[in-house]
Amino acid sequence: MFSTMQDAPLLVSRILRHGVRVHGSSTVITWTGAGEAQRRTFAEVGARAAQLAHGLRELGVGEGDVTGTLMWNNAEHVEAYFAVPSMGAVLHTLNLRLPTEQLSYIARHAGDKVILVNGSLVGLLLPLLGNLPRLEHVVVSGAAADDAGAALAAVSGVQVHEYEELLAGRPTVYDWPELDERRAASLCYTSGTTGEPKGVAYSHRSIYLHSMQVNMAESMGITDADLSLVIVPQFHCNSWGLPHAAFMTGVNLLMPDRFLQPGPIAEMIERERPTHAAAVPTIWQGLLAELTAKPRDVSSLTQVTIGGSACPPALMKAFDELGMRVFHAWGMTETSPLGTVARPPAKVAPGSDEEFAYRLTQGRFPAGVEGRLIGPGGEELPWDGTSAGELEVRGPWIAGAYFGGVEGEPTRPADKFSEDGWLKTGDVGTISPDGYLTLTDRAKDVIKSGGEWISSVELENALMSHPDVAEAAVVAVPDEKWGERPLATVVLREGAAADFVALQAHLASNGIARWQLPERWAVIAEVPKTSVGKFDKKVLRGRFAEGALKVERV
Ligand code: AMP
Repeated sequence: MFSTMQDAPLLVSRILRHGVRVHGSSTVITWTGAGEAQRRTFAEVGARAAQLAHGLRELGVGEGDVTGTLMWNNAEHVEAYFAVPSMGAVLHTLNLRLPTEQLSYIARHAGDKVILVNGSLVGLLLPLLGNLPRLEHVVVSGAAADDAGAALAAVSGVQVHEYEELLAGRPTVYDWPELDERRAASLCYTSGTTGEPKGVAYSHRSIYLHSMQVNMAESMGITDADLSLVIVPQFHCNSWGLPHAAFMTGVNLLMPDRFLQPGPIAEMIERERPTHAAAVPTIWQGLLAELTAKPRDVSSLTQVTIGGSACPPALMKAFDELGMRVFHAWGMTETSPLGTVARPPAKVAPGSDEEFAYRLTQGRFPAGVEGRLIGPGGEELPWDGTSAGELEVRGPWIAGAYFGGVEGEPTRPADKFSEDGWLKTGDVGTISPDGYLTLTDRAKDVIKSGGEWISSVELENALMSHPDVAEAAVVAVPDEKWGERPLATVVLREGAAADFVALQAHLASNGIARWQLPERWAVIAEVPKTSVGKFDKKVLRGRFAEGALKVERV
């Protein structure tokens, strides 16, 4: 028997329409650096999204055409987020932190026909232009430097438009088409540390369902009473789904634009008083140092979502002391990205050690995400909190393949997808009987010493809880006797001296077994980071292999 229910497609335009009509007075605030921030209501953003869609249609953008964005987090980028998929085209967010060759590869692979670019990023776009045969139009939002603007105007074969002029005078409503909910709405490439970037095409349906999950009380639990500071870039898995989720429940958005240094972030928090914020640990480490050096009133910010890399316990503790409650979350570009969120179960006492231990896990699986652990022999492992294996996931907002390029077919590489269709995450960890995931490593970062695994993350967390250590990254290096051993690289705090024996003792006192203690150590100026601020261990391993690290043995 089939149901008797209506079959309304789950579309991005449905989220937009709802946000405009029901939460029309909620606001998108964009930080401008100096003076007043720019404020736009959801109703205004919706009207401008309609104008943008009319403008893009006039430029020839039709259903399925890929429209790239090379933009910071700001109201115009939110307008593109809704306009492009709602009209049936595909939004492709370009990662402005990538080197030119990778950006150029990605924009060509995706087949961008139009690119919307912030004026401040035109210089980044210029070297790509000769390499994009499908590109017809560039739309510039905000002022570009004189020379960059002139160079762009001189590029042949590409028409240049000004964003506000493209919108001006156009109708503020658009008859959004009724699309198949399984069609691609937006395209995001992985910023992984190995291999070529891979494209994940989110569908209207996956975005809709994922946005509902973001808002659930067991996830971010944000409502129209909140102002969310969205530091996680719009080019990195749709800002963890926050713009879409916001239009569902009226969450007000505070967008930092290009002002991402700790000083401006602290000022933004003090002046605009967000209640929620989301970013990777690196950003929060920077903010913590800033607030220690220059205290400010950040009391409004009571909920902080940290994900993208493991949240060091010392960071979580420090934020607790500032009155900001950290919620740790795990996800990937391939998972839209929300996978798990670490909200402790109701049964544990608030403030207890048990509660803290739950909060440090990567979190609990929501109903929409199924997880399983696969052991080294391909066998499925029990959820007993101790059996460690590679995490595989499946669900309606998890990728089932990679985008094969504008002219290609989707690909399902065997190292990324199991034969029965689960996504192989490349993350290694355990799952507790009550469904909490604890990651101990990336499969490629785990240290295999004498047939046993050593978790690099565990060593890093223990090192970063030492007062002399600002950052620490541990990588596997070849060892004649044991196969691999850990090399600990540390960034020391200002004025601290390198005392590796003391750091070893600190690790031992933090419960690290004797055989796991690193004997190879190096002081580095900074941990190399990927384009989205994660530790780039590939670079560290490379430096070690080249002999570029000064390694001491203790
Ligand atoms: P990306 O696709 O760039 O978002 O990277 C996804 C990867 O980031 C995951 O496969 C994990 O290795 C890592 N990651 C994300 N969130 C966490 C977390 N909370 N703890 C540890 N690793 C994480």
